Amino acid sequence: MVDVEKLNPNDFEQVVYCNDPKVGLKSIIALHDTTLGPGTGGCRFYPYETEEEALTDVLRLSKGMTYKSAISRLKFGGGKAVIIGDPKKIKTPELLKRFAEFVNSLHGQYITAKDVGVNGADLRVMSEVTPHILGIEGKKGSSGDPSIATAYGIYRGIQAICQEIFQKDSLRGMTFAVQGAGSVAYYLLKHFDQEGVNIVLCDVNPSSIQKCQTVAPNLKIVDPNEIYDVECDIFSPCAMGGILNQETLSRLKCKVVAGAANNQLATLKDGYDLHEKGIFYAPDYVINAGGIINIAYEQNGYDQKGAFEHVEGIYDTMVQIIRRSKSENIPPFLIADLIAEEILKEAKKKVVKSGVRPQRGLRPVGLTPNPNFSSIL
Ligand code: NAD
Repeated sequence: MVDVEKLNPNDFEQVVYCNDPKVGLKSIIALHDTTLGPGTGGCRFYPYETEEEALTDVLRLSKGMTYKSAISRLKFGGGKAVIIGDPKKIKTPELLKRFAEFVNSLHGQYITAKDVGVNGADLRVMSEVTPHILGIEGKKGSSGDPSIATAYGIYRGIQAICQEIFQKDSLRGMTFAVQGAGSVAYYLLKHFDQEGVNIVLCDVNPSSIQKCQTVAPNLKIVDPNEIYDVECDIFSPCAMGGILNQETLSRLKCKVVAGAANNQLATLKDGYDLHEKGIFYAPDYVINAGGIINIAYEQNGYDQKGAFEHVEGIYDTMVQIIRRSKSENIPPFLIADLIAEEILKEAKKKVVKSGVRPQRGLRPVGLTPNPNFSSIL
């Protein structure tokens, strides 16, 4: 977990301000660490109130990507970009193309992608200027909607949790409370329903729930304000970040928290408190990494089989985190950070020894083959 209070631009390889008043562009690209490969992470277009707020966000997100890619065994480093302003008011093709020129000026050390305020059509405009983009939905060779791979990774992570924490081979008969019925939840509920899980679901948007009912007809619906109070085995946050805080922690009646949302812990203290309460928290950037893993397989066309085999690795990583957390009595979110840092340290040693940085590409991971693998593609 990135501790925002300790963020310092001097700990980053590059922080590049990319401005052009002629087209109204004010943006920052942050490359945290490119030991494992080019800094890869989406571009967020958001009406930040101050430049300082934008800088904090891009540093936090970029460092987070270093850890996420490292623990996912990708040959990607940590990078992220922010464009300051309201995309509904200032987004133009000229602005997007000018931003893409700045991406180009980094010669592939930063690879951009979608994030809040930037959609597939925007990436297509940028791609007229720069090749350093991944995840252009609708384009030939694209990996398409990342939610399918994200959901599959969460499903596999939860299977590891069931084995290691509940000592169960199957999810059948367990109760999961899912917050948010969006794209990831839709595919996740498909897996849960097939496994015979009792699903309790909430969303602020009734049409999202209706869509999920087509894949999980027996789910129980609760009011969004009640989801934290549901007695369940696993609470699965699949809507927004910051939901694990002092107010909600006192209400949770689950043994595990495992879901898609980014930045689930509001503060470091909440991570320690969950651990003290005996609730296992599956580190968000580990269990929701299916999307970035999927995108990484967009090289020379999309290799779907390779992508999903790599997503399988989330099972083993989760087992490793659970076992270390138990044996060292350290909260799982810290164990994840330690593992990512160990991977980076090893890679840095190799770079020093050989003087060569890895090229963009993939690194195989120890895989646990899933006998039903072909049925999920
Ligand atoms: P989405 O926008 O499709 O779905 C989010 C859902 O949450 C929506 O249906 C929305 O109505 C609902 N919601 C919003 N506020 C709520 C509240 N207070 N209570 C209950 N429901 C609420 O998003 P998604 O793509 O399904 O992603 C879900 C989360 O996972 C996000 O935090 C996202 O950043 C994260 N994530 C997604 C991916 C991916 O591949 N899509 C990958 C990694 C992380």
